[in-house]
Amino acid sequence: MTMKRTYLDYNASVPLRGEARAAILAALDAAGNPSSVHAEGRQARAIIETARERVADLINAKPSEVIFTSGATEANNWVLSAGWEAIAVAGIEHDSVAAPVTASGAKRIDLSVATNGVTELDGLGGALAASPAASKRTLLTLMLANNETGVIQPVADAAALAREHGVMVHTDAVQAPGRIAVDFAALGVDALSLSAHKLGGPRGVGALVVRDGIELPALIKGGGQERRRRGGTENVCGIAGFGAAAEAITREQGAAKHMAKLRDRLEVGVLRATPAAVIIGKGAPRLANTAYIALPGKLAETVVIKLDLEGIAVSAGSACSSGRVGSSHVLEAMKLGPELARSAIRVSLGPQTQDEDIAAFLTAWKKIAGSAALAA
Ligand code: PMP
Repeated sequence: MTMKRTYLDYNASVPLRGEARAAILAALDAAGNPSSVHAEGRQARAIIETARERVADLINAKPSEVIFTSGATEANNWVLSAGWEAIAVAGIEHDSVAAPVTASGAKRIDLSVATNGVTELDGLGGALAASPAASKRTLLTLMLANNETGVIQPVADAAALAREHGVMVHTDAVQAPGRIAVDFAALGVDALSLSAHKLGGPRGVGALVVRDGIELPALIKGGGQERRRRGGTENVCGIAGFGAAAEAITREQGAAKHMAKLRDRLEVGVLRATPAAVIIGKGAPRLANTAYIALPGKLAETVVIKLDLEGIAVSAGSACSSGRVGSSHVLEAMKLGPELARSAIRVSLGPQTQDEDIAAFLTAWKKIAGSAALAA
């Protein structure tokens, strides 16, 4: 008999939605190259343009502003390697932002992060004014919601400040759709990254949304696809699935409320079973689906493996590279100390999560959280 699995790792990847699967299967039979002028080509082109409208609708952008990519990693690399002289960035950003910032050689303007996980904007105005490159060659990048803590960042406020200094703004919005409303126009940003598999679409496709009128040098050079901004024959099936998932989320009502109720129940249950546990980011505005739990004295990787053996899929907040247990750069930026950083696990819910999933998690948690074998 196979064990029933409880999937609580939606921030890593959301299972493919039925609507996306159907759209992908239909697109598989579209024979033409979307750049061809004949009927087969036009059929493939129509699939892409329909998806573009759906993705634009999801985030209140114009279809002309949506450029499809191979995912958010490409979108982030593209915008961050566009030749900036200075980049304002916090330590909580995803590696696909942090690594290209470092590789770009741009002057770094560090944004500090409070212990609750919110990026602080106090010194930002002064830092931008003092930057020798406070001009069109400076970029501010700030994620909309953090993938580990779920903490929502003050992107609209940062964008308003940046604008006063003529500085461009990018946000990595990967974790937000379906959890909080995302309004590209109202945020006031110039560029925004999305990933299909974080909203129930397929893996390996995403988008960079770029405000009309802004020119970014192409990262992937080639043919004239995506209005000369991203070369390469489009991933028609992936884009179709992305569009269908975006449309399903746009129509969906009440998912955040449903997830918040279950997430709160989970956190109450954890604190009751293990009063020493710490819910990271609890005091801050958070995504409704994310619980980041540290149990001092326990090693996160061990807890994750034990939970997996009990049929529960969650993530360790801390990164483990080449056998060495390292601590999460997000928790380091929040200055929470190594004890919490070593023991933090991330539990992330989705619209399909049910009461029984929370009950299964809590049963497993009670069973293993007291086990001496988990001691760090
Ligand atoms: N940014 C954030 C905040 C993420 O969580 C992820 C995925 N872990 C990415 C970027 C990268 O997205 P993709 O998997 O589409 O490359």
